[in-house]
Amino acid sequence: MSYFRPHEGVLHCEGVPLPAIAKAVGTPVFVYSTNAMRAQANALRAALSSLGDPLIAYAVKANPNIAVLTTLAAEGLGADVVSGGEYSRARAAGIAPDKIVFSGVGKTADEMRLALEGGLCQFNLESVPEAEMLSGVALSMGRTAPVAFRVNPDVDAGSHAKISTGAAHNKFGIPIDDAPAACTKLRDLPGLELRGLAVHIGSQLTSLAPLEAAITRLGAMIAHLRSQGHPLRTADLGGGLGIPYDPSLPPPPGMEDYGAMVARLTRGWNVRLIFEPGRLIVGDAGVLLTEVIRVKPGPVAPFVIVDAAMNDLLRPSLYDAWHEIGAVVPRGGEMIADVVGPVCESGDVFATARRLDRAEAGDLMVIRTTGAYAATMAGTYNSRALAPEVLVDGSDWAVVRPRRGSEAFLADETVPVWLSRAG
Ligand SMILES: *Cc1c(COP(=O)(O)O)cnc(C)c1O
Repeated sequence: MSYFRPHEGVLHCEGVPLPAIAKAVGTPVFVYSTNAMRAQANALRAALSSLGDPLIAYAVKANPNIAVLTTLAAEGLGADVVSGGEYSRARAAGIAPDKIVFSGVGKTADEMRLALEGGLCQFNLESVPEAEMLSGVALSMGRTAPVAFRVNPDVDAGSHAKISTGAAHNKFGIPIDDAPAACTKLRDLPGLELRGLAVHIGSQLTSLAPLEAAITRLGAMIAHLRSQGHPLRTADLGGGLGIPYDPSLPPPPGMEDYGAMVARLTRGWNVRLIFEPGRLIVGDAGVLLTEVIRVKPGPVAPFVIVDAAMNDLLRPSLYDAWHEIGAVVPRGGEMIADVVGPVCESGDVFATARRLDRAEAGDLMVIRTTGAYAATMAGTYNSRALAPEVLVDGSDWAVVRPRRGSEAFLADETVPVWLSRAG
């Protein structure tokens, strides 16, 4: 069920008409539905309920807004973080240290220290050199770091190349066949305690087959390592389950099927399972609300120029991502158009030759399914403002990050003294 639905001809987020938000905050603006996130978190928990007491560690990078994290913390979710900044956010949102997994291929000594000081469930290590660095940091602090090795199972995730992570040529994890040697090496490193293995093969997966292959390989490796005397207690299966973007395509596999597959494959593993969903929890809980600046005639189809751009939502230009676009108050009729932003790049295109609600200058439109990997990837190219974020809960709404534009950016920049000397 979508939490963005028309009511008397006007698109609402839960109980709030979107034009009211546009009027108060301006456009472009990201609008998030609290209850959409809650529903996803609860549905996932239910789908995984046969697996004992799994840790669902929300992948903070999908949407790190503190209001979003606080919402999910209240639902009992933990956090999967990939930087010191994300770790601090997760803690600020009240997520308990033992529910935080620290992932990422390039953790620095400072980040390791931060997380060891504050506490965490485990570091997912991605190489032996990283283990050596962490060992040094832990020793210097007189601590023992709980760790897992992220293995690269060499499976093709079947998603876009830029969001596939589990093939041998990707930078992530240690080659799964090298895991026994790495774990042996780890045993000799003081300050580390090996807890388990982890895998994450990519994002926006639309088939369970690559996940099944990866989990199967992980299970075989866990059994092998145990036979070598490593008492593994956790298995982190990562995130990656896809969500529907284009309603004309078959939907990705559902959470129930995913949960059933995991239950079947992990029976008898005798580990605590960890999951790292990001997009699945927040992707469909957001829209990017934008206003049409003007409609410009084009050689084939008109260009609908909106006030959102690639700096606000990078996914179409970065991943060729498809996002549904529609009018907030449809005026009747349809058009075929290219929907583009104002940035001076040919790649600043949200949709090409798209059939959509007929639009005119001043109309509000939404770019849907932009709760994940959207506001967090925003930049300020062309000296554009960072779009604000609004959180809706029922008929309540609040700005959870204000618009930040040239004034704020200029205040951060300085002209060196030799340039500012008068004369
Ligand atoms: C990005 C990421 C995730 C989340 O991926 P989704 O596709 O959003 O579920 C989980 N784990 C790791 C290690 C990641 O890098």
